[in-house]
This record gives sequence, C-alpha cells and structure tokens, in this order.
Amino acid sequence: METDQQLHDAWDREHLWHPYTSTINPLPTYKVVSAKGVRLRLADGKEIIDGMSSWWCMIHGYGNERLNAAAAAQMSKMSHVMFGGITHQPAIDLGRELLKVAPSTMHNIFYADSGSVAVEVAMKMAVQASISVSGSHKKTNFATIRSGYHGDTWNAMSVCDPVTGMHGAFGSALPIRFFVPQPKSRFGGEWDDSDIEPLRKLLAQKSDEIAALILEPVVQGAGGMWFYHTEYLRQARELCDRYGILLIFDEIATGFWRTGRFFATEHTDVQPDIMCIGKGLTAGYLTMSAVLTTQAVADTISNGEAGVLMHGPTFMANPLSCAIALESIKMLTEKPMGQIVRDIEETMRVELAPASSLPGVSDVRVLGSIGVVEVSRSVDVGKFQRECVRRGVWIRPFGRNVYIMPPYVISREDLVFLCRQLIEIVSDEANY
Ligand code: PMP
Repeated sequence: METDQQLHDAWDREHLWHPYTSTINPLPTYKVVSAKGVRLRLADGKEIIDGMSSWWCMIHGYGNERLNAAAAAQMSKMSHVMFGGITHQPAIDLGRELLKVAPSTMHNIFYADSGSVAVEVAMKMAVQASISVSGSHKKTNFATIRSGYHGDTWNAMSVCDPVTGMHGAFGSALPIRFFVPQPKSRFGGEWDDSDIEPLRKLLAQKSDEIAALILEPVVQGAGGMWFYHTEYLRQARELCDRYGILLIFDEIATGFWRTGRFFATEHTDVQPDIMCIGKGLTAGYLTMSAVLTTQAVADTISNGEAGVLMHGPTFMANPLSCAIALESIKMLTEKPMGQIVRDIEETMRVELAPASSLPGVSDVRVLGSIGVVEVSRSVDVGKFQRECVRRGVWIRPFGRNVYIMPPYVISREDLVFLCRQLIEIVSDEANY
C-alpha cells in the first residue's frame, strides 16, 4: 500500500512542472518540509546542507529571525498596495539604501518582479533611450558575449548563450542578437588583448543597429560559471562610449557580496548605464528585482517619443518584499561582509583544490563565495543529486559545471563538509 507521503509525491510528479523538467520522465524531487540556517529538512527527517543558497538568493540562510520579524512587522501594516499613483515608506527606504551601495552614477530605480523581468525592463529602457536619442527605430538591437545567462523570458532568452541557452528550443521565434566570443582571459590572470577584438570589430561595424551591450560583470553564471578579466569590462565601457551604446550590467547573480564585493562592478572602476539586481535582494524570501539607471538614461527615456517608461507590473515595489530587502541590506552593511566572504573563499580554495587532480575534472575555480568544479562531460543531474542527498548535501550541477555558492552564514565546519562531499562525489565518475 502506498503511504500518504508517496501518494502526494505521485501527485506532484503527475501535475506539477518543476524547472526544466519533462512531465513524462521527470527528474526525482525531494520534499523539503522546513529549513533553518543552511539546512533543508526533508520529509523523512533527513537534513541536508544547501550548497546552492536556493539558486544564489538565500544569502543569510533560512528562517533568519531579523528577516522574519521585518516581514511580520510589514505584514501587520500592509502586504501589498499598487505603486501606480501611490508610494510607501518601504519602497523609499529601500531605494535610499540601494543608492548608497550601488555604483555612484546610479540615480533612478525601477522595482520589478523577478530577475528575468528586470532584464526585460533593462532592455526596454535601452530601446526607448536609444530611439529617444537617435530618433530612429533602427538602433534597437543588442550585443552580448557567448556563454551568458540572463533569464527565461523572451528577450532575456535572446541574449542567453545561443548554444547552451534556449535558442535550440525556440529557434527563429527569438529575436536575433549580436554575439561575440566569451573573453578567455581569466579573472586575476594575464590579460590577452585579442579578447576584446571581436567586440571592437562588431561595434565598429554595427553600432548604428545596437542600443546596448548586456553583460554579467566578472562572473558569467548559469551559462558557464566563468570568471573573466576586468580589463574586458574597462575596454567594453570605452567602446560603448565611443559608439553611443548603453552598457547594461546584469548583477542578478553577482550582487550582494557573492563575488566578494557588494557588486561585481566594484572589482573594476567601470560603471554601467543600467544595472539589474535580484535574487539576493530579498535574501531569498520573496521574488523582487530592480533596475537602476543613471539620471541621463532616465531623462532620455522621459524626453522620448512615449514620454514615460512603458512598464508597470502589478506587484511593483511590493511593500513586503521591500521591507525584507531593506532589513537584509542593513544586515549586510552591519556585518564585516568582505571578511566573511574572504573566509568562505579561502576555505573553498583549499578544500576544492584536490579536485583538480581528479580524472574527469577539467578546471577548478573559486571567486568570492562561488566554487566551481568543471568536469569534462555533462553531469547526469538525477544521479548526482541522489548521491548528494545520501551524503547530506544539496548541489545542483548544470551542464559540465558542479558548483556551490552557500549562504554566507555557513560555518567553516559545514563548508568543509560540503566541499569534501562534492569532491568525493566527483571522484567517482559513476556518480555522474
Ligand atoms: N540574470 C542572471 C545573471 C541570472 O543568474 C538569473 C537567474 N539565474 C536571471 C537573470 C533570471 O532571474 P530569475 O530567475 O529571477 O528570473
């Protein structure tokens, strides 16, 4: 006889779509009943350490008392109110804090619903600004580098890597963008000037068609988990200025100390025109993102044909999300985050280093609180995760990258355990 538990799981398999999953042959799912700190508690009572921060966002860990209290306090006042024609203190207070921590040229803030929507909004801003400046509808396309990932909505998909991203499934339904190769010069390594040549050529030839260049600064996330040289960003900025092209930084994954700085842009002296943030913004409590721009971009849009930015979601500036985000940023500013992330980085460097001598491992890299073990063939996620759960950790590989970015509250002991389990799993190719 099936237990209630198994029946529920069968219902899930039959009716619920999980991310990137087949309904006919779904990957196994593990039922989580509660979570605290860095631990997820499964329905059978087993606890596993979350190495993924629930896909980058759960930066202070689960069930944080201060965030819970901020949410409860805001809920007792109002969970939501429309933002059209109305404003509220959580939106104002959060905005003020964001401008304190963002690159100094950022001036206007648009609150959006999710990372992908932030990318859509940023792209819409660039198009509206470009039309406003040029008076023509020709300079409205986008350039980007390969192996990027910017989200799952239509335009966000169009700037994801054309091979590993969604282009295969959607083909000609997607707008066609300009792609240049990913810079090969590593972060912190030697700069090879030939890395910038394809972008230099592209912008010289096509600048009258390109509204903006969109990049994940320093760290390319889900598209390749690659850490590249800051010189690329410096030269990209110069080229954009030369050709009247806006520079969009997608800091959705890299923001909120993930790379060892509040924002990854701070590894350079480069400032974007438009910047997307999300994920860690609400410390994993609720979905919210924001798009920040310079005053010049905001004013250019407002002086344009439409006279307004053409976007306004129902849940824009949701007060509950704003209140949680505000408390999270306060926590980040009170804590010695630089030191905390350096400690995580140092532990991961030491603990993941032995992976580089394993057969089947092609590269090991660590930056801030991100650790990547790249293997030479695509990982079987179902198999890999079965072994993770058996060993008490939670890691979700993508393609050839097995990576971890734990909540910042992880103890050294738990982090060492997480890294060692990762290495043991990867050391037997039968596990993946
Ligand atoms: N941009 C980047 C760099 C991301 O990593 C992600 C999420 N993985 C997104 C955009 C999309 O965010 P969301 O999943 O919240 O729509």
